[in-house]
Amino acid sequence: MHRRQLICTGGTQRVVLDDRGRIIELGSQERCFTPQQRRAITLRDGGCLIPGCSVPASWCEIHHVIPDTDGGPTHPDNGVLVCWFHHRSIETSGWGIRMHRGVPQIRPPVWLDPGGGWRNATKSPTRIADRLERRSGPAA
Ligand SMILES: [Zn+2]
Repeated sequence: MHRRQLICTGGTQRVVLDDRGRIIELGSQERCFTPQQRRAITLRDGGCLIPGCSVPASWCEIHHVIPDTDGGPTHPDNGVLVCWFHHRSIETSGWGIRMHRGVPQIRPPVWLDPGGGWRNATKSPTRIADRLERRSGPAA
């Protein structure tokens, strides 16, 4: 279990992530993501998840991976950061986004990477740093 304290303006919010970076605390029945959920998703995703896109988290929207009209919950497990452009073009661009046990995965369009599979996606500097730390990690 991996617990992290996320300091925000105006207070401290606790976000609980598991070892793979899944957010396991915070939830809401509402259709709109709460500021708390948005902060948690921002911590996990770091910015627009589409590879090569450099739009920062503060300009991103939250995409329901399973549309709320199809019963997709408004929960961090079903919301990912994408920029305005990629949010509007997600249906037609060929990029695939899915959640795998709470972790966002991206699949490139066939024209870009034939045979390209699903891979975990994040632009979060803290999670990328975590991953590097784990890879080279102290031999305990
Ligand atoms: Zn984008």
